[in-house]
Amino acid sequence: MLAGGAAPTCPDCATEWGSGLLACPGCQRLVHGETLRKLAEEAETAARAGNAQSSLASWRRALELLPAGSRQHAVLTEKVVALSREVEKAGPAPSEPAAGSGRARWVGTLGVVGLLLWKFKFVAVLVLSKAKLLLLGLTKLPTLLSALASFGVYWTVWGWRFALGLIATMYVHEMGHVFALRRYGIRATAPMFVPGLGAFVRMEQYPVSPREDARVGLAGPMWGLAAAAATWVVAVATGWPSWAAVARTAAWLNLFNLLPIASLDGGRGFRSLSRAQRWVLVGCLALAWGFSHEAILGLLGIVAALRAGFGQAGEPDNGVLAQFAFLVLALAGLCVVSARHAVL
Ligand SMILES: [Zn+2]
Ligand SMILES: [Zn+2]
Repeated sequence: MLAGGAAPTCPDCATEWGSGLLACPGCQRLVHGETLRKLAEEAETAARAGNAQSSLASWRRALELLPAGSRQHAVLTEKVVALSREVEKAGPAPSEPAAGSGRARWVGTLGVVGLLLWKFKFVAVLVLSKAKLLLLGLTKLPTLLSALASFGVYWTVWGWRFALGLIATMYVHEMGHVFALRRYGIRATAPMFVPGLGAFVRMEQYPVSPREDARVGLAGPMWGLAAAAATWVVAVATGWPSWAAVARTAAWLNLFNLLPIASLDGGRGFRSLSRAQRWVLVGCLALAWGFSHEAILGLLGIVAALRAGFGQAGEPDNGVLAQFAFLVLALAGLCVVSARHAVL
């Protein structure tokens, strides 16, 4: 629209509305009332259709249009937190059978084979759906162009094979964040590469709870670990020493990202741990450092211990502790095995 001049005024009390206002300063009328009604309708429709993720995304958009500190904002935040836990429980595939169902009575090889085949189908569907999502990021032009620029930089320094592997593992790490963000209905940009520095996904909405934040944060290293392990398998199968170097570098980079500071992946995860859980993690870090002698683990251990001793602790979250500890031990193990074959 080209019409300029008069700022919008409140239909109720005629107070002028400045830009960026969420509630009328005169009478508290919600500026985006109409949009909020539409979003609520969308969210209810999605919920009735059984699409909790889409419902969550709509409520999250509505939350942005409510003034922080208002009662409506507090009520809707609670709703979003509850829905987000529901989405977690639902898991990636709704077709998994309930444990201990009639299946448990099946005895004999036939039942076991059937169950294995069924499980295999479940895993295959899961892998295929993730593979599809993995490719999705590449259709975004900024991602593709920035990846190519980074590839060029690493190529000139370390050769194309290493560059390709490194870019691929970074990309998978970022897509781990994208996958977790999608699951929670949190809007974010496509992954962007910064030549020489790494890659990132920028969130356009913020997680509503430390629990969400931690899971979004740790999803990157989780997928990054899988990618690093895959490059190590390729290195062993093909005898490419440069891909063992990729596995080693990727494992190190993912450990670096687990540093429990600020907005690094590890910082997000760490915020969601109680004091006792933080000390358990420090123990895991010491153990991992003990068998791998990786200096980065020493640094992680020191920062984690400082934050365990002096930082403000969060609510206990066993899921986050388990993921964090697993990541630390598995990445340290990968550092050790890949170092044996790595040549750049
Ligand atoms: Zn008003
Ligand atoms: Zn990350």
